[in-house]
Amino acid sequence: MIYRTDDKLKTKTSLLGFGGMRFPVDADDKIDEAQTTKMIDMAIEAGVNYFDTAYSYHNEQSESFYGKALVGRHDRSSFYLADKLPLWFTTDMQKTQEIFEEQMRRLQTDYVDFHLLHAMNKERFDQAKEIGIIDWQEDKKKEGVFTHVGFSFHDKPEVLDEILSYKHWDFCQIQLNYLDWDIYQSKEMYDIARKHGVPLIIMEPIRGGSLSNPNDKVRELFKEVRPDLTPSAIALSFVANLDGILTILSGMSNLQHVQENIVTISQFQGLTKEEEVMYEKAREIFRSLPLIPCTSCKYCSECPMDIEMWELFNKYNHYISYNDPKPLVNYVKKHDPAHLPPACIKCYTCENLCPQHIEITEEIQKVYALAESLM
Ligand code: SF4
Ligand code: SF4
Repeated sequence: MIYRTDDKLKTKTSLLGFGGMRFPVDADDKIDEAQTTKMIDMAIEAGVNYFDTAYSYHNEQSESFYGKALVGRHDRSSFYLADKLPLWFTTDMQKTQEIFEEQMRRLQTDYVDFHLLHAMNKERFDQAKEIGIIDWQEDKKKEGVFTHVGFSFHDKPEVLDEILSYKHWDFCQIQLNYLDWDIYQSKEMYDIARKHGVPLIIMEPIRGGSLSNPNDKVRELFKEVRPDLTPSAIALSFVANLDGILTILSGMSNLQHVQENIVTISQFQGLTKEEEVMYEKAREIFRSLPLIPCTSCKYCSECPMDIEMWELFNKYNHYISYNDPKPLVNYVKKHDPAHLPPACIKCYTCENLCPQHIEITEEIQKVYALAESLM
């Protein structure tokens, strides 16, 4: 394993971090505990020492699972545990304290190494300041309950600059991959964090898995330059090449993902000039396609009509990438109409939760109309 040391934080984090958001699940959407426990053990065996979770992941089951499979079975001092406070639920300090206590109970621990305010944006930052959550997080650090404090971020670069200018943060977590580098303004955010001297945790290096399966043109380009690497390994390598990164979180969903990511990161030796040009060419190909930038994070799953927009968007993107309409058409044909876009009541819950700022209510109707036209 490759490690990144940070002298100010006094940390030595594995460059590959374990994300707690995309564990394998059974038919009822429950975490496949046996397989995920093996994945955790395999990662630890290979030297992975950074494990990330959040209150809301896996319908609020991710923290409890880590409590059992990670904290309960491995030496607590041998790994870093990262957890996130759901700012959309913490509307006052009493609620903040209640959720925090519940998180510690679920995790079976009395300290968190990296504590994050989850999915910070302008609105949540202003609210967190007003309520007192930012001071509360600092107080918990002074008490030794949180070792390092930071936030995960989903908004515009200027908002990141504002938040990082507000006070000293130990670290921050941003979305970054070769596609988002300029399309999602990740480069600008990376430069801002570097300017402030704040180390980064990277999320979505493979963009919710979508960069594992790029379209044929991108695939051919990759084969010409790095025939020995899979598209996922090429995506991870882009991020591994950057300075100022503490760890790269990968939401691994099976043992093969864990194995492949361990090999990619542990054997990474830097990028050639030709590889850097390859990423630019891949972005050009992606830019020419009208893809919907959904990462399947499922934050929008609180839809009162149980519309699964990530399924619609993934199947739409599959159609655009491979000219194959079957998955989209079959989904719309076979799914209960009560949970398809015409049932949308325009409550905008989904759009308020979407970190990619997708105009979901409008886009699902377009995707639905397209599916109908393809039947
Ligand atoms: S706007 Fe429509 S799709 Fe979005 S949460 Fe409300 S009902 Fe669901
Ligand atoms: S639509 Fe937005 S919130 Fe929903 S899964 Fe996609 S990226 Fe996540």
